[in-house]
Amino acid sequence: MTNTIFNNLPNKEGYFGQYGGVHLDSPKLQQELAKLNDFYQKIKDDHEFINELKYIRKHFQGRPTPISYARNLSEKIAGARIYLKREDLNHTGAHKLNHCMGEALLAKKMGKKKLIAETGAGQHGVAIATAAAYFALECEVHMGEIDIVKQRPNVQKMEILGAKVIPVTFGGRSLKEAVDSAFASYLQEAETALYTIGSVVGPHPFPQMVRNFQSIVGLEAREQFLEITNGKLPDYVIACVGGGSNAIGIFKAFIEDEDVNLVGVEPLGKMKNAKQNIIGEHAATILFGEKASAQGFSSLFLLDDKGQPAPVHSVSSGLDYPGVGPEHALLHETGRATYVGINDKDCLSAFFELSKLEGIIPALESSHAVAHAIKLAPSIPDKNILVNLSGRGDKDLDFVLGNC
Ligand SMILES: *Cc1c(COP(=O)(O)O)cnc(C)c1O
Repeated sequence: MTNTIFNNLPNKEGYFGQYGGVHLDSPKLQQELAKLNDFYQKIKDDHEFINELKYIRKHFQGRPTPISYARNLSEKIAGARIYLKREDLNHTGAHKLNHCMGEALLAKKMGKKKLIAETGAGQHGVAIATAAAYFALECEVHMGEIDIVKQRPNVQKMEILGAKVIPVTFGGRSLKEAVDSAFASYLQEAETALYTIGSVVGPHPFPQMVRNFQSIVGLEAREQFLEITNGKLPDYVIACVGGGSNAIGIFKAFIEDEDVNLVGVEPLGKMKNAKQNIIGEHAATILFGEKASAQGFSSLFLLDDKGQPAPVHSVSSGLDYPGVGPEHALLHETGRATYVGINDKDCLSAFFELSKLEGIIPALESSHAVAHAIKLAPSIPDKNILVNLSGRGDKDLDFVLGNC
């Protein structure tokens, strides 16, 4: 398989190899998604749409975000040089606004009045509430009760931004249930509302749409990296993987560069290492998942013994999801990207290390990617590592300080 093949994916039915598609029982939901897909495929290459998005990225989000060389960290390790793509500096403090502004602009163009979303860490909720405010759309965010407690500051932000936060009280009361709840709500109001997913997951066209909106991260990073290093590409591009949107966003621009190693980092949670697989203690879907169809699409999922999406754990709620984007499942299957695991403990060390050495407090999600870079760097002197620093850690301070 040549790498260029990735450029033509997904196919018309929304498949990346054997993963993706639309796996939904409700004919009404299928119909709505087909309408959304028709609309999106037409507008995605429209000049006016692209120019509006460009304007928003520059003048509202503050893009391009820079790449920072982590000098102190790199010199301390004395191995590879570590660079950070600073999505923590994107407006609202994470990469998520990249696809939320795109989805909200799309909703506006479709004549919708309202955005419906789910959120885990609250980052997608804040980003979608921000986008809704910008476009003067109503906004309803479904969020697990457990996450509401864990991510208080983000809940407050959503409410200040004018969104309605709906607590999800069934099942594990976390991200997976929030997705189910948001879908149910969308089904009631599909005429006037648009469901806006938080990652490259869910039924077609969401994985393609979110990837395309996030690909700005890699496009910027590739150009910036070439400039900083006088024409070199990174040897490694590392990103954390929950659903996989920040990872695919930065990977996309390097997929055809065969010498660039793409590494996705999954949360091993409470486990010591990836030799263990204790259900409920991690959320490493690619490392331990199996092919299944759930939440509207086919991909790798962590399943319990009844074949249902399994309970998951990670110190970072944003990675706490038992599925993964279908494109990652294919990148894994073809070997174009490698997936590794980092546990809670190493993630927290990296969180403090980067804060102290570089003056950048990373999100716990992003700290997984930083932790892997710190692990890898000593063994590859003179190489260059580019880490996607997907977000900032302000939202995690209460949790980190309460648990250390
Ligand atoms: C939500 C989130 C993630 C995980 O989502 P992906 O879709 O895997 O990128 C990672 N980092 C931050 C800061 C997040 O908010």
